[in-house]
Amino acid sequence: MGEPILFTGGRIWCPTTGDLEALVVDDGRVQAVGEDAIAWASTHDHRTVDLAGGFLMPAFGDGHAHPLFGGLEDDGPQVRPCRSVDEIVSEVRRYAAANPDLPWITGASYDSSLAPEGLFDARWLDEAVPDRPVVLRAWDYHTVWVNSRALELAGITTDTPEPRLGEIPRRSDGSPLGTLREWGAVDLVLAAAPPMAEERLVAAVERAGRGYASLGVTWVQDAWVEPRELAAYVTAAEQSRLPIRFNLALYADPRNWPGQLAAMIEQRDRVRALGDTRLSANTVKFFADGVVENATGALLEPYTSDPGSGMLVWEPELLAQAVAAVDAAGFQPHIHTIGDRAARVALDAVDHAAETNGPRDRRAVLAHVQLVDAADHERFHRQGTIANAEPLWAQLDDLMTVLTQPRLGPDRSEAQYQFATMQSHGTALSFGSDWPVSSADPLEGLSVACSRQTLERQPAGGWIPEERLAVPSALAAYTSGVAHQAFRSAGSLIPGYDADLVVLDTDPRDLEQPRDLDRVTVLSTWLAGECIYEGDQQ
Ligand SMILES: [Zn+2]
Repeated sequence: MGEPILFTGGRIWCPTTGDLEALVVDDGRVQAVGEDAIAWASTHDHRTVDLAGGFLMPAFGDGHAHPLFGGLEDDGPQVRPCRSVDEIVSEVRRYAAANPDLPWITGASYDSSLAPEGLFDARWLDEAVPDRPVVLRAWDYHTVWVNSRALELAGITTDTPEPRLGEIPRRSDGSPLGTLREWGAVDLVLAAAPPMAEERLVAAVERAGRGYASLGVTWVQDAWVEPRELAAYVTAAEQSRLPIRFNLALYADPRNWPGQLAAMIEQRDRVRALGDTRLSANTVKFFADGVVENATGALLEPYTSDPGSGMLVWEPELLAQAVAAVDAAGFQPHIHTIGDRAARVALDAVDHAAETNGPRDRRAVLAHVQLVDAADHERFHRQGTIANAEPLWAQLDDLMTVLTQPRLGPDRSEAQYQFATMQSHGTALSFGSDWPVSSADPLEGLSVACSRQTLERQPAGGWIPEERLAVPSALAAYTSGVAHQAFRSAGSLIPGYDADLVVLDTDPRDLEQPRDLDRVTVLSTWLAGECIYEGDQQ
């Protein structure tokens, strides 16, 4: 582990204990802080790291992301920056021409708001690639846009019935349009594509980890792992190619439940047997519902612009049984909940687990919590359930004004992402990015959490300004809050805790405009007392 390090010469801040004048790290952990650190250093060999006026705090964690998918986005056509359908089609044409031997063109992820109601036509892609299948994932990863050849290979025709847990939008003549929504539909086409070589997946994990290190992040919750992805993480660990720490959430599928549980336990034990502190698989992922932008998020009251009130992925009783079963096996449930009905059903499932299995420090996670009914807020604290949120989403951008607000109507639109309300109820809050759905950079998320403003600084006073968080609270949600979710002794500068640290060029609490948090720079990132990233020092 190298010799002990004394950090001094800048601001040192812990989200749970406040400002400190010095920090000693030894053997990968916090050894001493404040005056104790100075005293310890005076009697022990050590080296000194001069922070040169920088700001040191615990490293960020990402409480919900898809690092493997994110790492894979660098492969394939670069559709993420495209600002129109035409741009996407040209990029797919360019990529297909540059890769004439690829049997399938796969890419991610395009902006669903570029076509009315997120409905994209297969024929638009046929113009660029008529002879080979094309599959593009949308930004939400719940939707794909495919060309006619892909529909054909997947056997999706006018006669294909609506799948369970999915939707096939159609033209007026009944033929499939080319957009497929939710697993039941998406899986039809993904199942037809050949599996990806493992080395591509391992390289994606490694690339994602290096990118995270440059953002000050040392721990990431991969929120959707199936056996192929798990194998890639295990290989990455065996080859010492994990730049940071990952916890894997094993994906539970209502169509295969309860048959999956034994395999999940075996997978978790296989990861444990590696004895690698950078990899664990202690979590099981459930989707309670879809997303508002597709009108698949499950609401207590019907959508304003669409028929129905969304889609529950699991029957509530089956979800409750499954959550209790994984809880009894010692897993942490991590439940995607967008709509207020999904949140209620998930909280009910956690109550059922507690009734069935008795009291336990289970730290269930409800991820996204876009809408939570007023009556349900107090249940989080009572259960010890964590609200994981993606703060970058709490802004009035095009996605919100074009796809979300018309579907929710004014009252529910104003009740989204109630971070301050959650905090006032004592809810344990953890932040994440959902990368590659949105940027992995914690400082971008933090700038929105504290300002509720877009990149253009709109609206001037912030969107639903009463739900803004103070800067220290937001920093805590991205550090100690995620460490709590992870069951880690980390995220605070307390002796014995993991010395995962980040050094920033600015004390975020000094900013006059919290929106400027996204201009703060990461100078270095430390994992277990070792520097894993160093930026350009001015
Ligand atoms: Zn996600």
